[in-house]
This record gives sequence, C-alpha cells and structure tokens, in this order.
Amino acid sequence: MPSKFVFLRTHFNTESMINTIRFLFLFIVAPGFILGQSLPASLPLNLKNTTLEIHPKSKETVELISKEALLHHLAYLSSDELQGRRTGEPGNLAARNYIIDEFLSQGLEVTLQPFTFERRGTSFDAVNSIATIKGTENPDNYIAITAHYDHVGIGKAIENDSIYNGADDNASGVAALLVMIKYFKENPPKNTLLFIALDAEELGLQGAKYFVEDNAGMNIKLNINMDMISRNEHNEIYICGSRYTPPLKNYFSNIPQNTFPVKFTLGHDGLDGKDDWSTQSDHFHFYRNNIPFLYFGVEDHPGYHKPSDEFEYIHPEFYYQVVRFITNTIADLDSKIE
Ligand SMILES: [Zn+2]
Repeated sequence: MPSKFVFLRTHFNTESMINTIRFLFLFIVAPGFILGQSLPASLPLNLKNTTLEIHPKSKETVELISKEALLHHLAYLSSDELQGRRTGEPGNLAARNYIIDEFLSQGLEVTLQPFTFERRGTSFDAVNSIATIKGTENPDNYIAITAHYDHVGIGKAIENDSIYNGADDNASGVAALLVMIKYFKENPPKNTLLFIALDAEELGLQGAKYFVEDNAGMNIKLNINMDMISRNEHNEIYICGSRYTPPLKNYFSNIPQNTFPVKFTLGHDGLDGKDDWSTQSDHFHFYRNNIPFLYFGVEDHPGYHKPSDEFEYIHPEFYYQVVRFITNTIADLDSKIE
C-alpha cells in the first residue's frame, strides 16, 4: 500500500483529475462539442430591423388566441386518459389523432412523418405531425414552430399516482401550437410557417433529429421551440438561444420590460451561470444544423417529470399571456426576416 501521503496524493490527484476532466468536458468542451461535432458559435439571420412592433392585429389576438381553447386542449392532452403520451403507446396515438383532427378542422394541410429509431436495444415507431400555412411573399422561406407532444408515460408511483401527465411538459407547447394557427390564418405570414408536433423528444430529441435531417434542403430561417410554457410562480418565461444570433439578441434587448404582461428573460444559454438549455430540447437539432432558434421555456418546477405535472398546477393567465407574447414574436420576426 503506498504511503498514506503518496496514496492521498495519488488518490487526490487521480480523483480530482477525473473530476477536473469531467468538469471541463461537461461545462467547457461538451456544450460546444456534442456528438463529435462542434456547435455553431453564431447563427445566420438577417432582420430588416430589430425594433419591436406590436402588430396592430395583435390587439385582436384576444379573440384569435382563445384562452378557453388553449386550456381545453391542455386539459385533454394532459388527462389521465392519455396515460402520459409515451411514444408508441395508445395515449401517444390518441394525442396525435387529436392534433391531426385539430389541424384539419382549421383547414390546414397535414403531413405525417413516421420514423423508427432504436434506443437501448428497443425499436420505436414514432410520428411527427406537420401543418403548413404558406407564406404570401417568401413561400420558400420557412419558420419552423415546434412543440413535442410525447411525454414519459406511466412510471414509478408517487403518492399512489403513476401517470406522468405532462401538462406543462409539453401539452402546454402543443396547445399553444394549435391555438396560434387561428391567428396566422387570419393574418397570413410572409414566410411559410410550419406547425410541427414532434414525437419522441423524451427519448432523445428523436422527432426533431428526424425532421431536420429529413428536410436538410429546406430553407428554414428560424426555429421557435416551445417546451414547458405554462407554469411559473414568478410570471417569468425564459428565452434561450438569442446569444447565437445577434439580431435576435438586439431585438429582445430593445423590448422594454412591461411591454407584455409577462416577464421574459434571455438566458439559460451558457452565459448566465445557469443550466445551458441550448441542447436540452428539440431546438438542439436546428441549432446543430446552423439554424437560428429561440427556445421558450419556464424554469424547472417541482412537477418536472413527476406525476404532479398536472393541469391543476399550471398558471392559466401567465400561460395565456406567454402564448400571446410568442405569437406576437413570430408575427413580428416573420415581418422582419430577409
Ligand atoms: Zn419537454
């Protein structure tokens, strides 16, 4: 046995060296270097200007973005009946059919994108559902609006509840996707908008990976990703991703707080000492393919990935105002993208 001191030094060195390497990899190297690929330091986007415009028609969003419809969709998608919507399970299929019916009932063209993937030796069949509103001026430029509709399904029971309803994660993003369609049907965009309900996010961002790879030739100008947007006690929504796209950073930095009834904070993208969400949800596959992204999400809460992520715990007014804010952001950026 080496001398205690030697052992300690060796032990200390080895252990701390491993920790140092781990730390370097996780916080310094990994974010910019995932899956053997360095991630873009900046993403290309041209905006006519970076000054917020409250789209005149946005004032009419009160009717067009229906709070009632929003909560109705969220309540159904997060109901026990859908059993937490795990990919490949009946609850996931029911959610997908609901989304497709909603797309069709609003008169939109729907494209289904089935795909298969392996995970830990299990093969999964999954489906992305996509609805399109064609652009009036630049129909070959796309804004991809994403929200994953799957969740983790049935799991370890907590207080006798084993259904992981996923109300905030991410029935909230999907319901937002469904209600904002009405606004853009009434206010046709300049660029083509894709409303994409992604599958298998919880199994490794698979739906986004498949969508981006399968549409490599598409001229996607911007990804707007919504994942957990309905529950926050501080009336605060985070926007992750502007740091990579200076025009977007300028755009949001120019918006006086209190312009919207919700507080928005740029962050969680590696500059503020908080968790870096740049790779944590579906926007990651747009990011790594050099497509500018904005990820809207709330700070983690006690219900995150718990059976208690239920409809009754969301903050309805906060949620409604967040969806109006995101809708205005999309309408405004659509009008500015060159
Ligand atoms: Zn999620």
